[in-house]
This record gives sequence, structure tokens and C-alpha cells, in this order.
Amino acid sequence: MTARRRTPRRHRVIRVAGGRVAYTNTSRIPDADVERVIRFVHARCSLDRVVVHVKRHGRARRWGMAYDGIPSITNLVGLREREWSYLIVVSDGAPSFVELLAHEAKHVEYYRDGLQAGERRCNAFGAFVHREYARAFEHVRRAASVPPAPRRPNPGEADELAGDARALAAKLQAVGMGEWCAALDDLYDELHRIANQGVDPDGTADPLDAA
Ligand SMILES: [Zn+2]
Repeated sequence: MTARRRTPRRHRVIRVAGGRVAYTNTSRIPDADVERVIRFVHARCSLDRVVVHVKRHGRARRWGMAYDGIPSITNLVGLREREWSYLIVVSDGAPSFVELLAHEAKHVEYYRDGLQAGERRCNAFGAFVHREYARAFEHVRRAASVPPAPRRPNPGEADELAGDARALAAKLQAVGMGEWCAALDDLYDELHRIANQGVDPDGTADPLDAA
């Protein structure tokens, strides 16, 4: 599968107390919610001069990342480069978007101070802001705190992964790494099991119809 090339989005700049935050949003979260969360997090941990890119979660294992600076390949369409100092990339894949953004904002705070933040501190801060947010926005409490329903396995996707695992196993076998090969066989079986769990074996029924 090849990633589709998209024209880089133009940034929106929002004024916050004591600064400005720029963002682009290609996620499933509405802009209004993204802005509300940015403002909420900023009130607790400065996002001044931070560029926030909110993306639709794909296959990446990470949900978010904070950069100490702005990587040179970053899309800054509509912005003057020298006015921005940090980049946060977050996806809509996390159970709580506000917790994720607060976590990454904490990393930026440490960068500003020239320190390296421990994950534990960022996690604790994220959880704290999430709780405050849920309390402050009772009417969106469910959206903020309930993890999305587990995604039905997509047989095509899992089979593709299983195929990768099998090909790798064959390569390892060829170079005499039998033990690894056995581990990969197990992985393949597991992926296959996941792929076919609760899914029509012919793949003819739409899993969503059953819900
Ligand atoms: Zn982190």
C-alpha cells in the first residue's frame, strides 16, 4: 500500500493567553474540539509558539510526539518560520485526545527548560489534565474519557501483516535462524487468529452490519 500524497494544509493560528498556537487538523476530531483542547491544555502548560499537527491515526504505533525544535521537513504553510519554536504531532488514535496533547505539552515545557522529561511525569500530567477536562466539560465527558470501541479486525490488513511475518520467517530460515523462525510462526498464527476472529470466513459480510 502506498501513502496518498496530500497537499500540505495551511495553518490556523489561535491567540491564547500570553501567546499564539498554530495548528493543522486532518484528524476525525472537529476543529472546534481541537481548539478547545488546545486552549484548555495551554491554560495549564504553555503551548506558546508551538505548532500542533493533528492527524488521523494510521498504522504508526505512536499516538503523539513532541519535538525540541521544528524539524526542517515540517509543513509550515502560512507561518513565518522564525516565530515558531516547537512541533507537536498528535493523532486521533488515543483514548483521550486531551490527555495526549497535555502529555506532549509537558515534554515541550521540559524542552523550554533545557531538560529531558521522564515519561512518567508526562503521563501523570496528561492524566491530571484529562481528569480536569472531564470535570469541566461534563457534557463531553464520554467523548473525553471512554476509549473507542475495539475496532473489528480487518481481515485484509491482518492477513497482509501475517504475509509480512511469513516472508520474514522464510528469510530467517534461509540464514539459519530457526529459533526466530518458530517465534514468527507463532506470531503468524496469532495474527491469523485475530484476522478471522468474529469475521465471516468468506469476507462477504460487512462486519459493521452485525453490530
Ligand atoms: Zn512522552
